[in-house]
Amino acid sequence: MAGTLYTGGDVFDGTGNLLTNHAVLVEGDSITDVGPAEKFTDHAGDTVDTKGGTLMPGIADCHVHLVYKGEADPRGSIQDVNPGEITLRVLENAQTSLKAGITAVRDCGGREYLEFPVRDACNSGRFFGPNIMASGKMICMTGGHGNKNGRIADGCDEVVKAVREQIHAGSDLIKIMATGGVMTPGVNPEDAHYSADEMRVGVQEATRFHKTSASHAQGAEGIMNAVNAGITSIEHGIFMDQECLDAMLEKGTYLVPTLAAVQNIINNADKGIADYVVDKARRVFERHQESFTMFYKAGGKIAMGTDAGTPFNLHGENAMEMAFMVDCGMSATDALSSATSVAHSLMTLDDRGQIKPGFKADMLIVNGNPTEDILMAAASKNHRMVVKNGRKVDLP
Ligand SMILES: [Zn+2]
Repeated sequence: MAGTLYTGGDVFDGTGNLLTNHAVLVEGDSITDVGPAEKFTDHAGDTVDTKGGTLMPGIADCHVHLVYKGEADPRGSIQDVNPGEITLRVLENAQTSLKAGITAVRDCGGREYLEFPVRDACNSGRFFGPNIMASGKMICMTGGHGNKNGRIADGCDEVVKAVREQIHAGSDLIKIMATGGVMTPGVNPEDAHYSADEMRVGVQEATRFHKTSASHAQGAEGIMNAVNAGITSIEHGIFMDQECLDAMLEKGTYLVPTLAAVQNIINNADKGIADYVVDKARRVFERHQESFTMFYKAGGKIAMGTDAGTPFNLHGENAMEMAFMVDCGMSATDALSSATSVAHSLMTLDDRGQIKPGFKADMLIVNGNPTEDILMAAASKNHRMVVKNGRKVDLP
């Protein structure tokens, strides 16, 4: 038996099960066997000792912005910056994430498609990085949330054209703005932006070309417009009400909560973030947590996502979102599943996110038992090793 055997500790399989004293055999880039440690006593290849720790799937973050580094003013930070420099930041942020156990990220809005070559280079193995899925430009209405950086489109015909542009440019998913948001001046998170019709044709066009879709949706009316249109995931979901919740459960719509986004603005309110951002973050904070808890208790599908790149919401600290979710009432085991199997499912990375034979060896080894103490997985100081495609991550 060749390959590398990870043995001595426990295994979290990504779907809610902690397997005590189990070993994982990796051959090439894949997991080929998982079983009780004693099954592998005649293993002749390399061994990695996981004693006192837990081996789990690598984490997927379903909502990041790789062009930003978490500056107080992210948009301003890339204004008048050489595109080559922005591209390097994208790679740097991707690799910083990987080192912190984030083996897949979904970029939900970039800059002039500069993130696409980095995505291709990481996905093909030309550079060491996480799996990256990227939306290209956010599609938004005139004056709407995201209008400083996004693709502005008004009316059904324009929205369809904007979706086609993204697909032609190479987008993996379509990001479309259903409501106002915190980071854009002069808009209210509560307000619906695109009409039900605009949203419907946009999502239909994405679906027609076999792309998933994500909607920045904070107010209830906008959430309904997106869910009724058939959106794959609701991002933020702050003012979700019972009608939204029922519709999302019925359609199987994912929620990507991004609790870290609002939390990090509030925690760093005195560090140069614009007043309108801080004010809106404070206004939505409690309701955001309530809607998360309500959706969780009702059994909705929650895929971990952070909005990393927004103010003080740093690439490399993505996993802390699991701790924020636990603070809002989620069990540690469910938070771990949300960040692994569920998040990879939303990203349609169906051969990643679980520790099972046949899955790719994207793995994180942490101290202790994260199903009892989520900080073992959430705080990167408790991480021991990250493995990507069967290879130990050893980036500078
Ligand atoms: Zn975002």
